[in-house]
Amino acid sequence: MTPLDHSHDPAARSWVASANVPGCDFPIQNLPFAVFRQQGSDEPFRGGVAIGDQIVDLARLALSGSMDGLAQEAALAGAQPQLNALMAMGPQAARALRHALFDLLKETADGAAVARLRSCLTPQAAAQYALPVQVRNYTDFYTSIPHARNVGHMIRPDQPLSPNFQWLPIAYHGRASSVVPSGTDFHRPLGQAFPAGAAAPVFGPCARLDFELEMVAYVGRGNALGERVPLAQAEEHIFGMGLLNDWSARDHQFWEMAPLGPFLGKNFCTSVSPWVVTMDALAPFRVPAVARPAGEPQPLPYLADEANQRAGGIDVQLTVGLESHLHRERGLPAAEITRTSFRHQYWTVAQMLTQHTVGGCNLQSGDLLGTGTISGPTQAEAGAIVELSLGGTRPLTLAGTGEERRFLEDGDAVVLRGWCEAPGAARIGFGECRGTVLPALG
Ligand code: CA
Repeated sequence: MTPLDHSHDPAARSWVASANVPGCDFPIQNLPFAVFRQQGSDEPFRGGVAIGDQIVDLARLALSGSMDGLAQEAALAGAQPQLNALMAMGPQAARALRHALFDLLKETADGAAVARLRSCLTPQAAAQYALPVQVRNYTDFYTSIPHARNVGHMIRPDQPLSPNFQWLPIAYHGRASSVVPSGTDFHRPLGQAFPAGAAAPVFGPCARLDFELEMVAYVGRGNALGERVPLAQAEEHIFGMGLLNDWSARDHQFWEMAPLGPFLGKNFCTSVSPWVVTMDALAPFRVPAVARPAGEPQPLPYLADEANQRAGGIDVQLTVGLESHLHRERGLPAAEITRTSFRHQYWTVAQMLTQHTVGGCNLQSGDLLGTGTISGPTQAEAGAIVELSLGGTRPLTLAGTGEERRFLEDGDAVVLRGWCEAPGAARIGFGECRGTVLPALG
């Protein structure tokens, strides 16, 4: 785990005034990465770093003469239209760039540095974002016990939690081509379902469309085929984390899923936030991994060590907002429908990465490891509508408009947000991950 250093100092302030506003997602202690260009332009996409309501353009920064050494090499890699090359350089490179940017952006930076940096800034309000990486591989885990119990109960009432859940981080290999950046809308998928009481399956638009509140870990340095990554080194292979919405067609999923796992019910769209928050930025918010009471399965030795148990978890506060057509028409904010924390996940991101490689699978820089739906211990903390509405039997009432929802309707936007707060640390945020459901195409 990353040790704390001067770049985590909660008293540090930036000459970019918006970065010092309380509640800002992107203070100088955060410095997350995204890929962007000027909205409405045909400029090439390139990497950028958030500060307040601005973006430090890494392509311009690399040409500005502001940096040297490893930080300059990292800025050059980050200036590409995907961050895979920067991620491949490993944590030292991203840390060198973080420290260099911290010095250039802090309130006490000298006038010449400020002038050079000022010419590298673009307002976030004028930016269009692309995927932060070229997605070559996407794996989605299943690591929340409440989620596994709630959904498992609907599929296998006699044994909601599968016997392997507490022994290994379960996952499936997801679809890389349909991962989209926040703000990309998608059409309600068509597919096959077997409604309760029907005599035969039916084909049509999904009737039980859902979101899944997840986080995503981006693989930094990869590993060679056949080479496993020990738990103690796992986090050195994680560049950072973002928000992920694993949109799910429950009626299609539940019919098709046995015996091989999710297919069309999950592969029509997966949204990710533009900003990737580095593991360095998350360092002040580490918490113990979930405790396992005596009598419950304990992790096998390759999935356990003291450091992971002491600080393998991360306390990321998460909310989901549902914004209907009516909310937009009336100028109302999205209705918050759930609120929880990533700290409740049963397996840590290090355990997920180690499990992924233990048989020799080679991870590649920029691969996505979805954490699985994040449902906290209480019903109000569930990370999917199918859980919040008890399988569609108890509709949610949306704040603001009073509308009811059993599942998502056309025109609904789902907005994920995440942030971290801890005593003695500056609050940092992830921005948002948004997508809107469009009507099915005939
Ligand atoms: Ca999922």
